Amino acid sequence: MIVVMKVGSPEAEVKRVSEELTEWGLSPEKIVGKHKVVIGLVGDTASLDPLRIQELSPYIEYVLAVEKPFKRASLEYRQGEPTDVTVPTPNGPVTIGRNQPIVVVAGPCSVENEEMIIETALRVKAAGAQFLRGGAYKPRTSPYAFQGHGESALELLAAAREASGLGIITEVMDSPDIAKIAEVADVLQVGARNMQNFSLLKKIGAQHKPVLLKRGMSATIEEWLMAAEYILAAGNPNVILCERGIRTFDRQYARNTLDLSVLPVLKTLTHLPIMIDPSHGTGKSEYVPAMAMAAIAGGTDSLMIEVHPNPAKALSDGPQSLTPERFDRLMEELAVIGKAVGRWEQPALALV
Ligand code: PEP
Ligand code: MN
Repeated sequence: MIVVMKVGSPEAEVKRVSEELTEWGLSPEKIVGKHKVVIGLVGDTASLDPLRIQELSPYIEYVLAVEKPFKRASLEYRQGEPTDVTVPTPNGPVTIGRNQPIVVVAGPCSVENEEMIIETALRVKAAGAQFLRGGAYKPRTSPYAFQGHGESALELLAAAREASGLGIITEVMDSPDIAKIAEVADVLQVGARNMQNFSLLKKIGAQHKPVLLKRGMSATIEEWLMAAEYILAAGNPNVILCERGIRTFDRQYARNTLDLSVLPVLKTLTHLPIMIDPSHGTGKSEYVPAMAMAAIAGGTDSLMIEVHPNPAKALSDGPQSLTPERFDRLMEELAVIGKAVGRWEQPALALV
């Protein structure tokens, strides 16, 4: 349920309404929008009569029941106003959001050694990426496959952050690792395989670094938004949704089916920013550029692209990783589409 206050409602009146609702046993949450103040009510609101709430104050414009199971993640909860997730990075704040320039995240699947992670960081930065990605803890299908270098890879990510000034995005697989990963990472990634690890979602929601929530490989859009709801409900408002391909009946030629239809669909459902990952979405480097361009044309807010200095030798996801040279060209290709949709910022290097 959301209580929309009239424009210019006195602060004291918003407070009084919230206090009254608290007395009713509810947990009101004040949401300050560009134009209006809204009081969000979540929990067991099914038996509440909107008219009874309306009578609380003449400053209440209207009371709206949010029918969807996801409340805080719903577009209604923020009165249709998109959430911008602003991430402080050494190079300055980077904002991911609906009306912002497209943000590109690039880097290897796994952090393998210092030389490769720093080289990749500098290359993707020069091409215009704002974040470096790279796994320290890797969720691998086989227990015999490379599992990531863990804690020592976090130090290498810190070195790459220092050398490039890029923000760092890396995956958290297990709750006890959150604190040490958050010391290095600017955004914490929840991987597809952990999208419904509810205890992890609660813990990651209770810390303040922004969260990149990947869509589970068999998750419906509603399940994905409910997973985001866990993080929001735990107190962290900075969630970015990342589509990375889902499982369909055909896995012969592409690793997954990249569901670009989430772009228009999510925009009708949620205020949260969207990222598209065509690397895991297709599983093959030659398919990545077309899907990345389509994602920009379709209205994505950000992209995640795997880049490796020598994909043939990569310890994970080599076949879907672009070389730095191919990534350079891709950024030029993306700029054409990005400019056409009015969402491309010239990389700083192009200005000097
Ligand atoms: C990754 O980003 O390297 C990764 C493992 O992604 P996903 O969880 O989407 O498979
Ligand atoms: Mn990968």
